[in-house]
Amino acid sequence: MSVIQRVLLVLVGLLCSVGVHSTPLVWQVHSQSVEAAPFVDYLQEPVEGLDFEQVRDLAESRWTRNGAGNLSFGYGEEAYWFRLTIKPQASRTSSVLLELAYPVLDKVDVYVQAHGELAQTLRLGDKLPFYDRPIEHRNFLVPLTLEAGTPVTVFLRVETSSSMQVPIMVWDEEAFYVADQSGSISEGIYFGIFLAMILYNLFVYLATGERSFLYYVAYITSLPLFLASLTGLSFQYLWPEATWWNDQAIVVFLNLVAAFGGIFSMRFLNVLPTNHPRLSQMMVLGVTTAFVLAVAGLMVPYHLLIMPTIVVAATGCVVLLSLTVYRWLLNEPMARYYAVAWALMLFGGIVLALSKFTMLPRNLVTEYATQLGSALGVILLSMALANRLSKEKQLAFLAQQRLLQEERKVRLAQEKSLVLQQDANARLEERVQERTRDLEKLNAQLLELSATDALTGLKNRAHFDDSFQTACVRAYRFEQPLSLLLVDVDHFKQFNDTYGHTVGDDCLRMVADTIRQVVTRPQDLAARYGGEEFVVLLPDTPEEGAIRVAEKIRTAVERMEFRISEQVIGVTVSVGVAARVPDQAEQTKELFELADIALYQAKGQGRNRVIGYTEHAQNAATEQTP
Ligand code: GH3
Ligand code: MG
Ligand code: MG
Repeated sequence: MSVIQRVLLVLVGLLCSVGVHSTPLVWQVHSQSVEAAPFVDYLQEPVEGLDFEQVRDLAESRWTRNGAGNLSFGYGEEAYWFRLTIKPQASRTSSVLLELAYPVLDKVDVYVQAHGELAQTLRLGDKLPFYDRPIEHRNFLVPLTLEAGTPVTVFLRVETSSSMQVPIMVWDEEAFYVADQSGSISEGIYFGIFLAMILYNLFVYLATGERSFLYYVAYITSLPLFLASLTGLSFQYLWPEATWWNDQAIVVFLNLVAAFGGIFSMRFLNVLPTNHPRLSQMMVLGVTTAFVLAVAGLMVPYHLLIMPTIVVAATGCVVLLSLTVYRWLLNEPMARYYAVAWALMLFGGIVLALSKFTMLPRNLVTEYATQLGSALGVILLSMALANRLSKEKQLAFLAQQRLLQEERKVRLAQEKSLVLQQDANARLEERVQERTRDLEKLNAQLLELSATDALTGLKNRAHFDDSFQTACVRAYRFEQPLSLLLVDVDHFKQFNDTYGHTVGDDCLRMVADTIRQVVTRPQDLAARYGGEEFVVLLPDTPEEGAIRVAEKIRTAVERMEFRISEQVIGVTVSVGVAARVPDQAEQTKELFELADIALYQAKGQGRNRVIGYTEHAQNAATEQTP
């Protein structure tokens, strides 16, 4: 801002140079302050150098009258001499101050001549420690005593690596302090606002972790430091002894302003490689250059760095300003804030210029419009930053909300599909169980079938063999008697031969039914052993009981009426009985053999009888003649 302000002042000065004063500065009785520039003569010191005596004795033609414009000669290595004559009008001695309001000048030698003699010499400049000054003020002040009627000529030799600007003002001492006091308080307010904004944004950064605030803090810290260096305030208050650093500080802080301002603006205006590829590249380059220059400022002399620094800063300003306007035209709210902040800062400069141009009255507001503008700009920007942050937070919140909703939908769908799957699983399980039950039923039927004799419906031989073994083991374990009957139809071959096989089968079925009617106890088992032979297994039955059952069978078959076309055919059976308590688990074979022997005996003794096995005697329970 200060650079712009100075450029404007130069323009204003040029416009004002209507007449050239050739007279000395006349100090009236009531003069408060007088701009000295129109009364100053100057000359550029030749390379070989000049001392005061040589300058004093120079021909008048060597001097150039400055006129109305500012004493400003840009950057260069040469020293300049200035000459100002002040002619007091008052009838009494008065104290005035000669103010050089550009505190970054390196070396200023002051020679005061009165009555044709050198009355006073003084060394000023920021290459001398601050406390060496006759009056401790951020600007260079030369105290002069004006005796009534005695003109005083002041010679200044100025040498500087900064811009050769020598704004000279002559003040009434009292008026100077009054004006300075009001200036001080405005400056205090100005820097106070900056300090508050720095702390505020720093806290916001610490609270939110949002980096934009940090860059902004860096930016608004560098800016007042730069301004304070330029106006000599930092030399006065921060580093009064650091004469070398005093010049360098301007370069360092101006570059930091450019660098952090650039980074901050990129973030603030959302300049990304994706949306502004070339511009963001350019800005990164600019920011990097500024950083390099800032670091260089710690080592490389001021006069080598100040030009590139100004170029970088000015380019940055132009680029950002055009970008802002462009973004504003694109209707971006952030750009609007930014543009207004910039406008406020520029406005300060313009108001100041207009007041110098006397188009606006010179008062506190116009005098400090620059400060006012930049302070308001700084406040506005930090408000915008906070606004942006809260908007982003809001957007993030909404996005999160949407995400949560989606998540819930997905979860509900998942739950639904889980329920469906569980249903399907349950149905499947049910069907599997149903099928298993069916299969078990079928299996049981098959087992029953495989255990059944097809012709008679009694159990078959395979089933009998199994059951016989089990019953034998059981009888052995519990020491119970086990009885076996072998039932054989008598003369069946003959029967078959006489009536045919089909009738023989019918007869066998009838014999089986008769046996089934007799053998009724649940644990008893009647089976067809093969051909016309049947077996009956009687667990837990002694021989006596077994013979009784056998006799029942024999009697029942004998009484059975097997008819073939009204003719009743007599059918008889012989039964062999074996009964014993097994003395080992595996004794089926022996028992069967015993029964077989008994049956054989029954056949031998004339058939249609029951014989119980006894070792020596042949014990016929019943004997009947067929
Ligand atoms: P016995 O026992 O009284 O000494 O004389 P048997 O004629 O019964 O003796 P054998 O054991 O020699 O004859 C058995 C006969 O039974 C042979 C066969 O003709 C007849 N037979 C065997 N199985 C069947 C069958 O399933 N159906 C019919 N119809 N006859 C059968
Ligand atoms: Mg037989
Ligand atoms: Mg037989």
